[in-house]
Amino acid sequence: MEETGKPLGRVEALLEAERCLYCFDAPCEKVCPANVPIPEFIHSIKTNNLQGAREIIEVAHPLIETCGRLCPEESFCQSVCARVKIDSPIKIRELHRYVTDNTEPSRNLIIPVRNKGRVAIVGGGPAGLSCARELGRLGFETVIFEKKELGGIPMQQVSNVRFPEEIGKREVRFINDNFVTEVKDKKVQSVKDIGNGFDAIFIATGLQGELDLDVKGTNLKGIYNASELLKLARASIKTPVGRRVGVIGGGNVAVEVATVLKQENSERDVELVYRRSLKELKAFKDEIDEAVNVGVTMQFLAIPVEIKGTDSVEGIVVRRSRLSKPDASGRRNFEEIPDSDFFIPFDTIVIAIGQKLADYFPEIEKTERGLIKVDDNLMASTKGVFAGGDIVRGASTIVESVADGKKAASSISNFSNGGENV
Ligand code: SF4
Repeated sequence: MEETGKPLGRVEALLEAERCLYCFDAPCEKVCPANVPIPEFIHSIKTNNLQGAREIIEVAHPLIETCGRLCPEESFCQSVCARVKIDSPIKIRELHRYVTDNTEPSRNLIIPVRNKGRVAIVGGGPAGLSCARELGRLGFETVIFEKKELGGIPMQQVSNVRFPEEIGKREVRFINDNFVTEVKDKKVQSVKDIGNGFDAIFIATGLQGELDLDVKGTNLKGIYNASELLKLARASIKTPVGRRVGVIGGGNVAVEVATVLKQENSERDVELVYRRSLKELKAFKDEIDEAVNVGVTMQFLAIPVEIKGTDSVEGIVVRRSRLSKPDASGRRNFEEIPDSDFFIPFDTIVIAIGQKLADYFPEIEKTERGLIKVDDNLMASTKGVFAGGDIVRGASTIVESVADGKKAASSISNFSNGGENV
């Protein structure tokens, strides 16, 4: 399958760069969690200095290839572009991607001497890798503890079509080869599993495992969780799903897996079943558009009640819901409509209702939600232990994890220099 999202060509990129207003105190830059100097890199594109543009982004952003393709720009930089008052926002993420597609990683950031200290990083996803790159730049040795392939969610739960494997691997390899001292294939569930010899620890394990759907019938044949199917699709292995597939959930992973299964077989009916409406879907706009474009259908305001079948799945009973008052975040809640159950025939059900928290690091203080509690410098309740990414925020975006990795590296550097974090 071909990669989605047509990249900008040279002329389109130059025309887009011409539209930038180079705002003083540019709002786009302020809302980019990685603080990419957006007007500066756009100016370099305009003056035909693409490698210079890359170096501007790269200084601020350790995972520039990943975010050039997967950053939800409508939630960040593009959402505040001043150009929107004139015509339409500048395609910042596409310019970001244009730069990364047409340049090579710069070696200017590599520091050969690492004598500032040694840091353990638990988790090799976006937060862990970003922290490792920043600490490597600051002269620290870093040891990443990771049981799976380095790269995290973008390498495991995003289809090859949206994020080609070789691009992800190249970026991870560059960080690993130039900024990481060692990768240990060891499961870490508590601080004592890490061992001695480290000046600080950064925990970036993310969330672990998928939430189970709490209805009758989940033991039937034909039920899968989203990540196992996405893993197969990423490895170009045919998924074992049938011809009429129901995907339960309303987040990025649900939309992603529905899109992948439809792309795998256009004859297959794939329907997303979600308890709220389109407006409350927690997926990014370009992913929803892609799902609709490939032919995924959507059943909104439908709450799963029971999966039916004798040995294998035959369908699902859902109950109609209606939207109710907004919650604290402003997102509208839902309530059941009595006597409104109906049956949707499916031969396969995919569960994609989110990830759960593992009960790791018992010695560290947690929030009510079970996430690791940190202060403004991302230090946890144990001195010298820092944390960031989804294990602190709950499910979040790649660029927010990148931002946490950067911030943790700077806090760790201050901490080990006896700075104000101690
Ligand atoms: S990282 Fe994301 S928010 Fe920042 S400039 Fe790139 S696309 Fe925009």
